Amino acid sequence: MRALPPGSTIGILGGGQLGRMLVLAAARLGFKCHIYTDVDGPACQVAAATTLGAFDDLEKVRAFAAAVDVVTYEFENVPLTAAAATDAIKPVRPGPKALQYSQDRLDEKLFVSRLGIPVAPFAAVEAPADFDAAIRAVGTPAILKTRRLGYDGKGQVPIATAADLPAAFDGIGRAPATLEGFVTFAFEVSVLIVRGLDTQVRFYDIPVNRHRDGILRVSTVPSDLPERHRDRAREIAEGIASALDYVGVLAVEMFYVGGDASEPLIVNEFAPRVHNSGHWTIDACAVSQFENHIRAVAGWPLGITERHSNAEMHNLIGAEVDEWPRLVADPAACVHLYGKGEARPGRKMGHVTWIKPR
Ligand code: AMP
Repeated sequence: MRALPPGSTIGILGGGQLGRMLVLAAARLGFKCHIYTDVDGPACQVAAATTLGAFDDLEKVRAFAAAVDVVTYEFENVPLTAAAATDAIKPVRPGPKALQYSQDRLDEKLFVSRLGIPVAPFAAVEAPADFDAAIRAVGTPAILKTRRLGYDGKGQVPIATAADLPAAFDGIGRAPATLEGFVTFAFEVSVLIVRGLDTQVRFYDIPVNRHRDGILRVSTVPSDLPERHRDRAREIAEGIASALDYVGVLAVEMFYVGGDASEPLIVNEFAPRVHNSGHWTIDACAVSQFENHIRAVAGWPLGITERHSNAEMHNLIGAEVDEWPRLVADPAACVHLYGKGEARPGRKMGHVTWIKPR
């Protein structure tokens, strides 16, 4: 395994805030980054180079791949054709396999459950003819979710009874979907695991995550997850990472249903990338999730994942970013602003992490 030397160029598919924070971390290690994106985004402001192009413009994608030394991605909906075209020229890490499963909720649930890892009961819904069987398999209450292109709670409709299913299906535009049993949980956690090119793994502390309207609002470490369940959570995440032959940071979101259940942790989904619930690692750890992702992708040894501080990360969503003058005046607040223009409702504009020595 050859480690990429400083001065090499890391290609990143996607130009959002995750890309931006990857670029900043890469710069600290002496790497340059080249972004490929279809919209001019926050990462482009800090990258050494940007190619603006459609993801189906494979000629442009190939030229980008030829200009860099290794490629990663910062969003999971990179078209597989673009990832494969890139991978034929320069290695894409994490590999296309992680992308494929995370792009389709049904394939993802099948993949995870085949590893013997608990997930909510689920069934495919392609057409009204599937309604009865899906309700029988899953029960109610439940959530109908589009198989593809759902994020931050988009493309999801909760149903209380079987009678709600036809309207819910219309509500998601009759797109291919999965019906998922509603999990009654105590709280939500995510495991942030990083796996090196040499298969070494390290974990960050497991944050508890609070969502509102399907969007992550707050991540806190330490969480109240009991120690024995932390071991189980890490074992689950490692099982997924090794089955994917993964390189980089992987986030596995889980529901914690409580200590008395035979399976206290149920996997909701995984994200094959750095994750919003790991942003606190920038300020509370010597080596952040972003730096460790870059280290893994570059074939470097992984950095320390221990945290030196307790942390609470709040997303700044929409007009909340207008609070910046008050936040930057707070000496305990680590403020991160993504350089986005318009503060539209629901748009992640930045985040702030409050740290306290542990
Ligand atoms: P997702 O887009 O799947 O991450 O869902 C967004 C949020 O909706 C999750 O973080 C949960 O808070 C909630 N949610 C999703 N699926 C379920 C489920 N099967 N049972 C209970 N809550 C869920």
